[in-house]
Amino acid sequence: MTAETILVVNAGSSSIKFQLFEVGARDQLKRRFKGQIEGIGAHPHLIAKNPEGELLVDETWPGAEVNTVPAALDKVIGFLRPQIGGKLPAVVGHRVVHGGPDYSAPTVVSELVVDRLSRFVPLAPLHQPNNLAPIKAILQRQPQVLQVACFDTAFHRGHPEVADRFAIPDAFYAEGVRRYGFHGLSYEYIARQLREVAPEIAGGRVVIAHLGSGASMCALSSGRSVESTMGFTALDGLPMGTRPGQLDAGVVLYLMSEKGMSAKEIERLLYNDCGLKGLSGISNDVRELQASDDPRAKLALDYFTYRIALFTGMLAAAMGGIDGFVFTAGIGENAPAIREAVAQRLTWLGLELSSKANAKGELKISRKRSLVACYVIPTDEELMIAEHALDALRSHAAGAEEKRA
Ligand code: ADP
Repeated sequence: MTAETILVVNAGSSSIKFQLFEVGARDQLKRRFKGQIEGIGAHPHLIAKNPEGELLVDETWPGAEVNTVPAALDKVIGFLRPQIGGKLPAVVGHRVVHGGPDYSAPTVVSELVVDRLSRFVPLAPLHQPNNLAPIKAILQRQPQVLQVACFDTAFHRGHPEVADRFAIPDAFYAEGVRRYGFHGLSYEYIARQLREVAPEIAGGRVVIAHLGSGASMCALSSGRSVESTMGFTALDGLPMGTRPGQLDAGVVLYLMSEKGMSAKEIERLLYNDCGLKGLSGISNDVRELQASDDPRAKLALDYFTYRIALFTGMLAAAMGGIDGFVFTAGIGENAPAIREAVAQRLTWLGLELSSKANAKGELKISRKRSLVACYVIPTDEELMIAEHALDALRSHAAGAEEKRA
C-alpha cells in the first residue's frame, strides 16, 4: 500500500486499542482495520480485524516478553509495517483523557507538551499515565513520526465559568480543580453528524446522552458544549457500569471516618464496584440486567433511566430549553428498551417517541409532531481522532512549506 495512513491509539492500563485509516482522494478517510493488544505483562494477545470482520492477526506471547506499553507498541508496529508497505504511519493520533485547563484543541506532541500533560496525571491517575506511555515510546524510538494528542476534555473547554466551578475556595480552581467534562471526542463527532443528519436541530439546544460502560451527557447549544454531567473526574454525573455517578461528598467522608477506608480502597470501590454492578449485585452489563428477573436488576435499570431524565432537566435548564435529544454509544445505540424508558420520562418536555422507529433502531425515533426531535446516532471517536490527526498533518506540512518559501 502506498497511500498515507493514520494510526489511532487508545492506550489503557493493560491494553492498547488501535485503528488504521487510509487517506484517500480529497483526504477521505477509509478504515483499514482495528485491533488491540491486551493482557500486557500477563497474557499478551494481539488481534486485528478488517472492516469485514476477518481476522488479520491473532498472536500471543509469554507475559515477560511483552510486559510494558513500549514492548506492546513494538508488537503492534511489527504487525502494522508489512500491512502498509514497510512504512510507518504518516501521523499517529492518540486519545488522551485530560488536557487540563490548558489544552482546548488537538495538539502536536513534543517533549515539552508531554511534560505539561504529565502535570495532569493527578487529575486522572488511572488514565493519563497510560495514555502518555505510547506517546513517550514513539517520541523516543520514532521521533520523526508526527504525533497528535486529542483530549476528552477539549470540547468542553468553552464552558461558561459558572459551569466550570465547584463552590470551593478559589485556590483549588486555580490549581485545576474544575468541572472539565469528558467524552468530548464523542460529542464533537455527534455535533458534526447532526449538521448532516438533523440540520433542523444542529444549531439549536440538544442534549446528547453518551451511554456506554462509561456514561455522561452534554448540553450542546448552537453546536457547542455548554454543560456536562461529568466534572473533575469521570466519576461524576450518571450512574455507569461500575461507577456510581453523582455522589454526596459526605459519603466519601463516611467511608473514611466510619469505615476506615484508605484513598486507594475508596478509589477501587468507586471505579470498580458501584453503578449498575453495585446496585444490582448482578452485572455491570445492561444486557444481563435486562435478561434477569431479579428485582435488583430492575431497580438498577430504573435508577439509570431515572437519572438520565433528571440530568436532562438540568441540561435543558442550562440551555433555556431543549429542541433535540440524541442517544449514542453501546447502550444508547443498542438498547431500545432503555431509550423507551428514558423517553417516557421526558414526555413532560414534549418528547414523543415513535415506538416502531425506536424498536427498529432508526435514525430518527421521535414522532413527527414531537416538540423534541429524538435521534440515535452511532458515535465514532476514532474517526474524530483520525480527522484531527490529518488536519494537524496538513497544517504541519503547510507550515514547513511556508518556512522553506
Ligand atoms: P465503552 O466504549 O465505554 O467500553 P461501549 O460504548 O462499547 O462502552 O458500551 C458498552 C456497553 O454497552 C456494555 O457494557 C453493555 O451494557 C451495552 N450494550 C452493548 N450492546 C447492547 C445491547 N444490545 N443491549 C443493551 N446494552 C448493550
